[in-house]
Order: sequence, then structure tokens, then C-alpha cells
Amino acid sequence: MSSSSSQQEVEPDEELDSALVTARRQLERAATHVDVDDGVIERLKHPTRVEQVSVPLEREDGSVEVFTGYRAQHDDVRGPYKGGLRYHPEVNADECIGLSMWMTWKCAVMDLPFGGGKGGIAVDPKSLSDEETERLTRRFAEELRYVIGPTRDVPAPDMGTDAQTMAWFMDAYSMQQGETIPGVVTGKPPVIGGSYGREEAPGRSTAIAAREAVDYYGHDLEDTTVAVQGFGSVGANAARLLEDWGATVVAVSDVNGAIYDPNGLDVSSIPTHDEEPEAVLEQNAPETLSNEEILELDVDVLIPAAVGNVITADNAEHVTAEIVVEGANGPTTFAADTILEERDVPVIPDILANAGGVTVSYFEWLQDINRRQWSLERVNEELEEHMLDAWDDVRQEVDEKELTWRDAAYVVALSRIAEAKATRGLWP
Ligand code: GLU
Repeated sequence: MSSSSSQQEVEPDEELDSALVTARRQLERAATHVDVDDGVIERLKHPTRVEQVSVPLEREDGSVEVFTGYRAQHDDVRGPYKGGLRYHPEVNADECIGLSMWMTWKCAVMDLPFGGGKGGIAVDPKSLSDEETERLTRRFAEELRYVIGPTRDVPAPDMGTDAQTMAWFMDAYSMQQGETIPGVVTGKPPVIGGSYGREEAPGRSTAIAAREAVDYYGHDLEDTTVAVQGFGSVGANAARLLEDWGATVVAVSDVNGAIYDPNGLDVSSIPTHDEEPEAVLEQNAPETLSNEEILELDVDVLIPAAVGNVITADNAEHVTAEIVVEGANGPTTFAADTILEERDVPVIPDILANAGGVTVSYFEWLQDINRRQWSLERVNEELEEHMLDAWDDVRQEVDEKELTWRDAAYVVALSRIAEAKATRGLWP
């Protein structure tokens, strides 16, 4: 077993940790709770491969700009690398590696036959026209052509990319390969081999995780208040489903700020940030709050579903929610996690809560291979089943070993990965 000396020490986030630093610290900490060979843990601290590419783009004015793209492939012992492509100005190699590690655990927690990957381009997608985004995406697909493929590494949407991005990516790859290969990416529009329910899936699984957590801690969803930071696909879908299931969503936010109504908002009538970027603040709500204030609201369930590193050592003391459910990837820093643990605030981790996205990606990949489309009902039923199985596996570790939900999810994931590594062996 590997040892971690800093397990209960609360260190301030002097600078916000990169996803890689957080992912490694989480791994070291979780390793103390599971009987896994040191060599396996050591191997898992490093990605198998990080591909860095230059992506030249002809801008609308005829000038040429070169962007940097990445694909981090963390581990594929359980199957092809799997994970999103992010278009964001802060994308860099370390961020992709950290996020690819989370994908490895996420796929293992859900018991999907995939490993972990993540990539992206350091670019502000809002600065590109649709035509530029298409050209950039097609060229990116070409640059990554030798490291991806339906049985090798299967990208998907992430921050700043969507179903249309995946359609261009799949088309460019297919045209270069000389045949249509829908299974090279997931999260495509259904008309070209995408799955019904894929877009709502991360929000749906986040809502399922919140529902199960509320039940686990002995509360009734009907008496539960919820605040959701982020009104993109994850936050909006989670909020709408929880509202449908009887919870009262009292606050939602997007990048511009938050709205609050203690009696409950009508979230199903608010367009998502992607549909109408200004919609949240345009609602006629009794109060507006900042994006910092929404995290400190006195609610039962807080769902950070926007960006990473929002619950930090600086504000974790002020989180008043009873349960935190991570809709975003990496919203809680390592130091904040320790503070929340000491304050007995359970955090349902991203690798379980938002894993519906990659789970329905797996369904999509199966549909592509079989050239057969599933109904939305079947997708949602199977997602529910996968989520409840994963929830149960993690809950068992929480109950038996008195672990945090994050440590428990890591224990489930690491045990599966380590067993696969031991069975396959280290070659040569
Ligand atoms: N980008 C999503 C995630 O972080 C989905 C990845 C996928 O579907 O492969 O889980």
C-alpha cells in the first residue's frame, strides 16, 4: 500500500491546483484505503501518452493563426481511452492529464470497458465563427488521426464543444479513413449515429446522484431545496429533473450571476446558457446573487455544475449546504475537500455524479458498432440501472470502511483497475 502523509492536514490552496495536482493528491490519498500494489499506483500517476499538436486555422480575414491542441491518454487497461475534447483558453497538457485521470476512474466506477483520455485546444470558442470552429475541428481531427479510433481512443464533447463539433470531427476522420466510422467519437447528433439522451445524460446522472444522496441521508426530495451553479447542459438538466421529481430549486446561476427565490424557481421555463446566454439574469426573480454567494446559500443540496476549482480553502468553511453533488469535473479543491470532510458535509464526487455522460457515450458506441439505434426510454432505463449499480458499489465502501464518497469511489475504481493490471501483467 502506498502511504500519504498529508491525509488530514488542511493546506491552503495557495494557488488553485491544476487538475493534475488535484488528481494525483486524490489518488495518493485513496491509495491509503485500498490494498493495491505500489507499482500500480505509481503507474497510474502518469499518463501513457500525451499528444501535443499544432492546429493551424485560416481566420475569416485570411490570416493564419496556429492553436495548440492536446490529447492525454491516461490508461487503457480496461478498454479504449475515453473522454472529452475541451475548447477553452486555459487548456494545457497538465489539465488534460488530470482530467484524463478522472476519466479513468469514472469509467471504472461505472464498470464501463473504457480507460481515460481527455484533450482539447487552447482557444476561446466564443472568439471563433461557426466556419472557423468547423475548420479548426476538422484539422484537429486530422492531427489526432493516428492516436484515436473507435477501438483506440474515443473523444466526446466537453466544455466549449458540442454535438455539432463531434459531427465535424467524425466526418473529417471518416473522410480521411475512406469509410464512415461513427464510433470514433460519441456525443454526435442522433441522425449520424448519436444516442438519444446523451446530451441530457450528465445532468440526469447528477440528478440521480442527488436523489440517492438525499434518500441516503434520510430526507425526502419533496422537502429538499437545491442550488445549482452553472446553467449549461449539466446544471440545467439536473435542475429540471430534480424539480420534476419534487425538489425545490431555489437558485441557479450562469457565468453572469445567480438568481434566488426561496419559494422555488420555475427552472423548466429558463432556457439554458447555451440556448440563450443571458437568460438566467433576465428572469424575474426576487433576488440576484453573485456566483460566489450561490455556493454559500443555506440549501439542502448544492450542485456546482459549471467549472473546476470553485469550492476552495477560502470558501469551504462557508458552504452551508448539507450535501454537495459535483456536476462539474473537479469543482472542489483537495484542501476544500478536507475542510468539508471535517465539517461532515458529504461530497458526491464528479466521477460518480456526472458519469452519466460517459455511460451514455458507451451506449452510443455500442449502437454505432451494432448499427442500431436505441429508444430514449431504453437509454434512460439503462442509465438509471448503471447509476444505481455504481451508487450501490460506492455506498457499500462508504458504509463498510467509513470513507468519504470520493475515497469510496476511488476505492471501487482502483480495485477494478488494479485487478485488470495484475491479470494482464506488466510487459515486458
Ligand atoms: N466530457 C464528459 C466527461 O467529462 C464525457 C466524456 C465521454 O462521454 O467520453 O465525463
